[in-house]
Amino acid sequence: MIDAEAAGKIIEKYDQSKLVIGTLGSHSSLNIFKGAKEEEFRTVCICKEKDAIMYQKYPLVDELIIVEDFKELLNEQLQERLRKINVILIPHGSFTAYLSTEQLTNNLKVPMMGNRQLLHWEANRKSQEEWLRQAGLFLPATFNSPDDIDRLVIAKLQGAKGGRGYFLTNSPKGFYDKAEEMIKRGLITKEDIDKVHLQEYVLGVNVYPSYFSSIINDDVELLAMDRRYESAVDSIGKIPAQEQLEIGIAPTYTVVGNFPIVLRESLLPEVMRMGDNVQKKAAELAPPGIIGSFCLETVITDDLKIYCFEISARIVAGTNVGIGSSPYAYLRYGGNMYMGRRIALELKEAVKQKRLHEVIA
Ligand code: AMP
Ligand code: AMP
Repeated sequence: MIDAEAAGKIIEKYDQSKLVIGTLGSHSSLNIFKGAKEEEFRTVCICKEKDAIMYQKYPLVDELIIVEDFKELLNEQLQERLRKINVILIPHGSFTAYLSTEQLTNNLKVPMMGNRQLLHWEANRKSQEEWLRQAGLFLPATFNSPDDIDRLVIAKLQGAKGGRGYFLTNSPKGFYDKAEEMIKRGLITKEDIDKVHLQEYVLGVNVYPSYFSSIINDDVELLAMDRRYESAVDSIGKIPAQEQLEIGIAPTYTVVGNFPIVLRESLLPEVMRMGDNVQKKAAELAPPGIIGSFCLETVITDDLKIYCFEISARIVAGTNVGIGSSPYAYLRYGGNMYMGRRIALELKEAVKQKRLHEVIA
């Protein structure tokens, strides 16, 4: 198990005046690398051959390590190579998408900015809910059994990529009928249904506020806000209802991009309190709580109630809408601040104050 203590031992051997910021070449890597360069760090990117073009067109990477599969990050020789050049890894969505929680906590022996203990709280739906509820957030109701369904619910399959196979229903009968039909069509399996997560479907608009939990400044900053552009669900409205019924479209939620959002100002105080409370609770569950970026996935209803249905305790790709600046980063820092740069700034400040061990695990 790699914890703050184990990571602390590794960085004792580092030349902290020559830290290198490293990450996997996808998701929010350009955001992270641009920020690193602007704060005068060297950068290393572990990347697949087919994606190397990004770093030729945007020359933000000092050292490119080509791998066939992101799982090669677990390779001991590769890790030794990274440690030798004083790499701090910045985790993003591809880490959790391509590596398991166990692999991330047990086998990745390179210091990461962040709190690895929280990965367990984040990865398990029940413990994540407990965390958010205890932080005082509104969560969509969940149903233990399909027989309890008494309102519109979204049926989420475990580990579903892009919401493939998710479906909506508003009664036990509706659930069993749909499940049976989807099994028949080969879209899902019987096991998927046994493990399905039934969540109240909250009618409202999606808003994803991104925060930065600074251990160095002991503060939570609201830095960016976005919403997603999802295929096919965002295109279903273009098809008249009649045809929708005829062709039997099932909504999928594959992310294709993101839009920036500015929120109605009277909602901001609540969004800020939510960020503070989530960090406060995280600090109790796994000290010192969230280190660095995190994002709350919310739905806001027409009576302006903010429901949170998920947390990502790391940089989310939605912060890419703020590369350069976003209104919320601007309000605090003036221009040219964004998540990737904020991460690098925290590392720089941590080194300066001899507190690097506090922001890694
Ligand atoms: P990728 O490397 O693009 O396959 O992304 C890795 C993981 O991050 C996948 O689970 C994606 O669904 C998620 N992801 C990538 N880009 C975005 C985005 N713009 N918004 C939300 N999630 C994303
Ligand atoms: P997820 O895989 O949990 O990120 O969910 C995929 C998409 O489903 C989200 O981007 C939302 O648009 C939608 N969604 C998920 N949960 C809910 C919910 N409880 N109420 C309304 N929409 C939801």
